[in-house]
Amino acid sequence: MALNLRLHTLIFLLLLFSFSTPSFSDSIPSPNSQCEAQLQQGCHDSAKALKLKLIAIASILVASMIGVCLPLFSRAVPVLQPERKPFAIVKAFASGVILATGYMHVLPDSFDCLTSPCLPENPWRKFPFSTFIAMLSAVMTLMLDSFSMSRYNKKLMQDQEAADEEEKNEDRKEISDNFGKEEGIIEKKLGSQLQRYRVVAQLLEAGIVVHSVVIGLSMGASDNPCTITPLIAALCFHQLFEGMGLGGCILQAEYRLKMKAIMVFFFSVTTPFGIALGIGLSNVYSENSPTALIVVGILNALSAGLLNYMALVDLLAHDFMGPKLQANIKLQIWAYVAVLLGVGGMSLMAKWA
Ligand SMILES: [Zn+2]
Repeated sequence: MALNLRLHTLIFLLLLFSFSTPSFSDSIPSPNSQCEAQLQQGCHDSAKALKLKLIAIASILVASMIGVCLPLFSRAVPVLQPERKPFAIVKAFASGVILATGYMHVLPDSFDCLTSPCLPENPWRKFPFSTFIAMLSAVMTLMLDSFSMSRYNKKLMQDQEAADEEEKNEDRKEISDNFGKEEGIIEKKLGSQLQRYRVVAQLLEAGIVVHSVVIGLSMGASDNPCTITPLIAALCFHQLFEGMGLGGCILQAEYRLKMKAIMVFFFSVTTPFGIALGIGLSNVYSENSPTALIVVGILNALSAGLLNYMALVDLLAHDFMGPKLQANIKLQIWAYVAVLLGVGGMSLMAKWA
């Protein structure tokens, strides 16, 4: 939980920094007229846009909550219990959504930012920064994954040794006790699996939150009702889908109610928060200021690397190579259909945001 909050705070601070430094961005002149042309286009109506943005805040909040809570409520449906087969299909769909978020939404956004004509040609268009940062971020995610795992396993071993030692000092135990000990080991193995699910859920939320804030921000800062109107519907679907992807992973982490509520809350408020922030800062903030482009571009690249790694390694490969799907070819095929549906739906959404 501490990790979760720290990541959120860091992301918000970085984003805030990117608008609160207009003087810095003003000091860099726009390098060419292509950038100017991008700034002056479309219809402008601040009053109408504000009304639409308020509608957007309410409707996106509701859509996000429905999306992320839907998988959580699936606990009430007996067929969709995590131990049952149909759950593997729901999970595969969720993993597909996360994979497409990384590849189809976040990574292209990073390219758009870091290769924008509003940034100086040198060095920004001389080197593929987006993929470079995404690559490093994937390695960093692997490190986080493996270090947290080995720390947990080390603690398990120490606990086990301490328990063994204690047992030696005591008198000989009955056979029935031995049975209990074996059960304890199985339980601990399940515990390490659960620990893994929890790390995955937290990192995923951090990766998704970056994208959610940024799309909210660009809507909040815009005063163009012609683009906002269709964007409201698109963003509602966007958050609904993404929420289902995240909700599936939160479900498996088996958090207690309070932690679940915190994660649902953070995901649901991020886009509305981004819109509100965009409205509040629309005088100072320009999407095409070099500082904003660089900060948002780098954040997007970092989260793209994280999401791609997590979706492929921790979600898809983990499940498809796991005993449940390996034992059942038919279930495997249905799970692939679900992955393709998730990937396809989320890719379609990339047309708008
Ligand atoms: Zn998107």
